[in-house]
Order: sequence, then C-alpha cells, then structure tokens
Amino acid sequence: MRGNGIIFPLMETVWIQEEQIGYAASLLQRGELVAFPTETVYGLGVSLSQPDAIPKVYQVKGRPSDNPLIAHISSPAQLTQLTTKLPPQKLIDAFWPGPLTLVLPKHPALPPLVTSHLPTIAVRLPSHPTARHLIDLVGSPLLAPSANLSGRPSATSASHVWDDFAGKIAAIVDGGDSPLGLESTVLLLAPKPTILRPGTITKEALEEVLQEPVAYADPKTAEPLSPGMRYRHYAPKAKVTWFSEEAPFLAYLEQSRSRLRMTLETPQPETLYADLRLADTNGLEEVVLYCSYELTQNVAFMNRLAKIAPEGV
Ligand code: AMP
Ligand code: MG
Repeated sequence: MRGNGIIFPLMETVWIQEEQIGYAASLLQRGELVAFPTETVYGLGVSLSQPDAIPKVYQVKGRPSDNPLIAHISSPAQLTQLTTKLPPQKLIDAFWPGPLTLVLPKHPALPPLVTSHLPTIAVRLPSHPTARHLIDLVGSPLLAPSANLSGRPSATSASHVWDDFAGKIAAIVDGGDSPLGLESTVLLLAPKPTILRPGTITKEALEEVLQEPVAYADPKTAEPLSPGMRYRHYAPKAKVTWFSEEAPFLAYLEQSRSRLRMTLETPQPETLYADLRLADTNGLEEVVLYCSYELTQNVAFMNRLAKIAPEGV
C-alpha cells in the first residue's frame, strides 16, 4: 500500500461501536490512529500525548507535511496546554461546542511537528458527544485532519472512512452520519478576525458576537496563513459539473445523455460528500448539480464546490 511513496504493511482495522469506545481510547493512548465521528465530518485522530505517531497520519492520508492538523478538545480548560493566548470568552460561549476552529498562538512547549512548524495552532471543541467522550477517555487533545485520503471528499460516515483506510489504521468509531457534513469554519483571530475556511458558522454570526468586522482571507494571499487552501480538495473520481442557472443546466442534460451520471437537482450541503462518494462507489462517470439561488448564498457549500470543479456554462 502506498502513501507519499511509502509502502505499508496492512493492519487489522477494528470497527468500534459506541459501547466499546474505551478500547478506541486505549489504542489512541498507545499511539495508534483511530477515526472518530464529529458533527462536521469524521476525523482521523492521534493523541497529542503521542507526538511520535503524528507522521503516520500524514503517511496514511498522503497529506502534504506542511498542512497542519486541528487539535480537538473536550473542555476549554485544555486550551492552556495548546496556547499562550486564550480566545475571547464570548466566542467560546456562543460557538463552543460546535463547528468553529480557532487559530491561536501555539504554546512554546508543543513539539514543532504538532503544528507543521507554524507559530499558531488550530483548536476546536466539537459538539458530537462521541468525540467529546473519546477525548475525555484519552485524557489528551486529539490531533485530527478530516478522515479521507488527501484530495478526496471528506468522510461523513464510518463506512466512508472504511473505504479509504481499512487496513491502514487501528480503528474506526462508528457514530452514525455526521449531521453537518461540511468541515468547520476556520477563524484566525490576530491581527484581525479572518475566515480562513468558510463553514456552517457564518461571517455574519461571528461579527454579531465579536462586534467587529470579520474578513474572508483572500485565497491568493492567504496561503502562508492556511496551508490547506493551496491543495486540491474534496473531489470524487467522477467528473463534476455544476450550474447556478436553470436554463444551461437543462440544456446540458439534454445535450449530453449518459447512463453513468448522477444528477442532483436539489443538492444538500449535509449530503454533498456522501453523494459524491456514492457516485464513485457505483463507478459513475459524472455528477451534475444544479444550485438554486438560495444554495448559491451558502458560502461554505459554494467554497467546496468551487474547489471541486469550476462552474459549467
Ligand atoms: P482538515 O484537517 O482536512 O479539516 O483541514 C484542517 C484545515 O485547518 C486545513 O485547511 C489547515 O490548513 C487548517 N489549519 C490547521 N492548522 C492551522 C493553523 N495553525 N493555521 C492556519 N490554518 C490551519
Ligand atoms: Mg480535509
């Protein structure tokens, strides 16, 4: 098996139900990789207490080593292990637990490997009870990127994770479908609040709580701020074509008939990745989506779609 040119022996991957979550925690404490559910997408976790195991995450995902992982905590009290500057309490009160990742100055005691040598660390307190229970049992924050092979759609169920990582990681905790289905909003706090990755928590909601303007990072200049923005993301093997106008969408369907095509007339942000993965598991050649005006106003959804494919004309 290959990842970044490295060949791995296959290992047994255990499918763990909620009742056996203690076993998943013991694997993490021993430096094994365990995928776990969150309300956004599944994460591929490694314990912060086992930093020597961090490179395995990059190897099995095929993730570029300069793209850091998010630290998942189960209580704001764990922030002091990770950062020297606590975020504003009003942000914590309004959005944690939940799909908001905060980029903070990293604690000097953290090994450079933890943040891919960046001076900052990204931290999130997920609302999914299984994720929080697992972090509590491990007794240490879990560093985790999304549990998908690099470049593929994120995993929103345990079986998606199985498709990408069976034989490569120690275990998968099955917590059902991720209810939100899109990755967290990533917010850089200093020098001024800047959204590095849009998500379910909107710019407007952040501005209301912070009582100050929040900017979107310019993708052309933000690369040093958020390394992940540079890479191709979320794409299935099938070709994806999408339209924001109905007439060209219908004309396209009429002109190019195909049996190996999935047409999504009312795609949902919550199930976008699941639909794209379903197209691949069924060997489809193309996915065609129509985005209503309402959907085009969903900044997080349109951000992911734009990374998958340019708009059809
Ligand atoms: P993923 O793990 O696939 O959900 O991606 C995590 C995202 O958080 C990526 O886009 C990373 O580049 C971003 N990220 C993680 N740590 C930092 C950080 N210290 N500063 C800025 N962005 C970060
Ligand atoms: Mg990802």
